[in-house]
Amino acid sequence: MRMIFIGPPGAGKGTQAARLVQRYGIPHISTGDMFRAAIKGGTPMGLAAKTVMDGGGLVGDDIVIGMVKERLEQDDAKGGFLLDGFPRTVVQAQALQELLADKGQALDAVALLEVPEELIVERIIHRRSDPSTGAIYHLKFNPPPAEIAERLVHRKDDTEVACRTRLGAYREQTAPLVPFYEDLGLLKRVDGVGSPDQITERLTSVLG
Ligand code: ADP
Ligand code: ADP
Repeated sequence: MRMIFIGPPGAGKGTQAARLVQRYGIPHISTGDMFRAAIKGGTPMGLAAKTVMDGGGLVGDDIVIGMVKERLEQDDAKGGFLLDGFPRTVVQAQALQELLADKGQALDAVALLEVPEELIVERIIHRRSDPSTGAIYHLKFNPPPAEIAERLVHRKDDTEVACRTRLGAYREQTAPLVPFYEDLGLLKRVDGVGSPDQITERLTSVLG
């Protein structure tokens, strides 16, 4: 299974990806997580990406495409993958089509998680993650256990101001992927409002 999750920031892509990769036995490839790891490791790519990411903008296409190309060449991605947060521009989507075609591969599905903008800001500003396990929490909707409170991370770009910039980037640069994948007959629209269990059920029913 080769699939992609698209949707605005905070739509629940990471939360659902963690569930689906277990079910399908494929790696979860999150470009956001890869950039955050590069920043933590102090690599040149991390340093280049940090300012753009903190402000809520998009990292340059060439950097992202190069990083994903390398990742898809690793053994665990040969039999399938779930891409979360990539592609985010039409240029990236075209590059992915070419990259897969060169390997004689094709995408099976693109799931679009639809959540209205007015629900997004609250999801984002109360998001917290556990660096030890990668688990994603929400201070109201999925509160973390008290004993891990000390180690929880609040992302620098999970402020209201950066969130609004990210929503603008989504509207202008990522939303054009919807007709792009619709034309390829790959797009599956999934309502992202409801409990995480309900959304997993909707996803698995459209993905098969
Ligand atoms: P979210 O899921 O909340 O939208 P991500 O963790 O996917 O956020 O991404 C965080 C940030 O990393 C983005 O706002 C952007 O700066 C950068 N980033 C991640 N993936 C891409 C991509 N495919 N193209 C450009 N920038 C990206
Ligand atoms: P994305 O990867 O699309 O940016 P996340 O999976 O990180 O989104 O979710 C963003 C925030 O919303 C997190 O705090 C998460 O706990 C919360 N969240 C995820 N799914 C739901 C849901 N179905 N209902 C309410 N909150 C949710």
